[in-house]
Amino acid sequence: MDKGVNHRQAAGAPLPQRRKKRGVRLAVAYALRGLIGLLALMLAVLLVCGILYVKEYLDSPADTTETLDTGKDTTNEEAESTSQPQSPTDVYTVVLDAGHGGVQSGCVFDGVLEKDITLAVTLLAAEKLRAEGVTVILTREDDTDVSLNRRCQIANDAAADLFVSVHCNSYEDSSVSGLEGYYHNGTKGKRLAEYILAAANALGVKTRHVKDENYQVIRDTTMPAALMEIGFLSNPAERALLRSEDYQNTVAQAVADGVMTMRAAG
Ligand SMILES: [Zn+2]
Repeated sequence: MDKGVNHRQAAGAPLPQRRKKRGVRLAVAYALRGLIGLLALMLAVLLVCGILYVKEYLDSPADTTETLDTGKDTTNEEAESTSQPQSPTDVYTVVLDAGHGGVQSGCVFDGVLEKDITLAVTLLAAEKLRAEGVTVILTREDDTDVSLNRRCQIANDAAADLFVSVHCNSYEDSSVSGLEGYYHNGTKGKRLAEYILAAANALGVKTRHVKDENYQVIRDTTMPAALMEIGFLSNPAERALLRSEDYQNTVAQAVADGVMTMRAAG
């Protein structure tokens, strides 16, 4: 019994100390585990924040580049329409239609082809309107033959605000000259033709009148549309004018001014 007591005493004497030591070790271990856990949590939070920050940083310039790229693509009508600013009030789309092209020369007098004059004036008008912030879509921008159906389809698909077709006139009486405008069934088309005629007149161009005509490009387009006969190639003096860059520039300015008046008038 004594032996047992002694034994217990011998073995038991250091027991509270060991327990105490084990307790301290456990406490330290738990504290360390807690600390490690806390550090891991902080690292995870920092990692997530870092990823989000880097993602945002990388994403913003990528978006800008994309917008700029599509904005530059003016030849593709779909890209053009999707690259526009979101607010519909900022966008004003005009389709300019250079009459004839390719094998379709239009009227020809003294080696002057209508298709060449219409293209030159249309390209100049496009340049002026783009400088005013107007989105311009061309039915052709080089010497290609585009069907009348396709010209209407381009304008209708783009849901353009206005359509202006550019042509040159001819008449059996070579003394007849002056710029004319045509519209079909619609007060807005008529107004557009009148505005361009008035702008031409203000720039010193000889003008005639506006008239309702059943031409396909002004009939089958769904927006206000005008067809401008910018002068008579059958008239020698006007033909000479139409060949000159100065006069082409003036007529193009008249088209642009008329469009801008129409835009302002709503
Ligand atoms: Zn023509």
